[in-house]
Order: sequence, then C-alpha cells, then structure tokens
Amino acid sequence: MVPASGRQEIALPKRPDYGIQATMRKTNNTLSTIAFDADDTLWENEQFFRLTQQRFFDLLADHSSPDKIYGNLLETERKNLSYYGYGIKGFTLSMLETALEVTGGDVSSHVMSEILKAGREMHDHPVNTLPGVGDTLDKLAGHYRIVLITKGDLFDQERKLAQSGLGDYFDAIEIVSEKETSVYQRIFDQYGDGPKKSMMVGNSLKSDVIPALEAGGWGVHVPHTSTWELDYADRPEGFTRFLELTSITDLPALLETLSEDDA
Ligand SMILES: [Mg+2]
Repeated sequence: MVPASGRQEIALPKRPDYGIQATMRKTNNTLSTIAFDADDTLWENEQFFRLTQQRFFDLLADHSSPDKIYGNLLETERKNLSYYGYGIKGFTLSMLETALEVTGGDVSSHVMSEILKAGREMHDHPVNTLPGVGDTLDKLAGHYRIVLITKGDLFDQERKLAQSGLGDYFDAIEIVSEKETSVYQRIFDQYGDGPKKSMMVGNSLKSDVIPALEAGGWGVHVPHTSTWELDYADRPEGFTRFLELTSITDLPALLETLSEDDA
C-alpha cells in the first residue's frame, strides 16, 4: 500500500549486496545499452502535479474536502488513461470532469477557467533537472548506447527534453503511450543488442523497472520522494537483475562493477 503521502518507503540494499557478480558471470553478457525514464528520474515532474492538485482542491473547497476530491480525481484519472493517455492534458481534462462531478454539474466558469489556466501553467513551468543527472549522463555517453524512454504528452516531453539541455546525450528517444514489457523488448532489440544486454533506470517500479525485468533486461530503481499513486507497484521478487540505487549518481560506479566482473 502507498502511504497517504504517496511516498514509497523502500529499504535500500547496502552497496556490496547488488547481487551482480554471480549473475553476470553466469550469463556472460556485456551491457551495451542503458535506457532512462525521464519524469522524476532526470527532472522534477510529480511535484508540479501535486502543487496543481492542491490548487484544484482549494478551488473546490466550498463543495468538498480535499480527501474526497483527491479520491474522485484519482478515479477519474484512472478511468481516463485509456482515453487520453498520460500527461498534463489528460490531467487537466480529469480535473474538469472531477469539478463537474464534485459540484453536481454546477461548476462556475471561474473555476473552469482556473483549471485550464493551471494546466497551461504546468506546461510553461521551467524544467528542473535532478542533482547529478548531467554529470552521470556525461560519464556514460560514449561508453554505452543511451536511450530515453518516457510516456506522457509528446509535445510536453519534447519541450522538457529541449529545455533540460540533456538531449545530446541520447542516441535514441522513445515517447511511448504505455511502458509495457513488449515495449521494452522492442526498444532493447531496436536500439541495443537485445534485453540481455540492456538496462532500464527509473523511479517507477511499475512503469520502468518491472516491465524491463520481465522483458529480460536489468531494472534499476532510483526512488524519488514523489511518485504518482497510479505508478506504484510492490517491489518485484525473484529477479536477479533488479537493483536499487539511492541516487542516479551511483550508477557509473555500479556499471564499473558490472564491467569488471564480466571481463
Ligand atoms: Mg518517472
């Protein structure tokens, strides 16, 4: 279960316990391709949704409590994923729909206009890259094929990538509608040397780590303090290629261990 705060409480392994050596020797594979998630892995994202969500609760404070509005909004978002996909546009439409429900269809034009404005302001927000991301990518570029795999609005993700200044580090960029096992299989085959020689790094166990593991690749979880409740999953069990890091800046050292053991 996710605590009310939405934060995932995760016990991280000590560094020597990665469980890499035996696996790498056994498979005798050399890692050639590393894929990264974008939102809350390379740059801040969820915090802007939460700030907007709070603003949304305030707008509807005369009609219902934040807890009830939150529950209503989450269910509306869940239902709407199959219609609008991930990202700010779908979130904005879900806020509008929730406002109609919470007010019994009597939502004011002021509230509707504020919701639309809040959605636009999310699109306008500057990109804040997370600490050490640029240095980490700089160390890895040229040694591995680097791929960006993200879901969300195409337009918004392209904007964030451009503003982040990180675009040149990536050999390929995939903005997908859903992060499923088959998607990772395709991307690892298309841009790498297959799943066995590929790794996915991200903050979401559900979207980044578990389907990449199921595809046969490495799955590296780098938790963020904020992870969307609909992107939550329990820790995977039984995968020797599942790794956890406290910071993305620990990745180069982890990869050196892999290379040394494989040599
Ligand atoms: Mg993410």
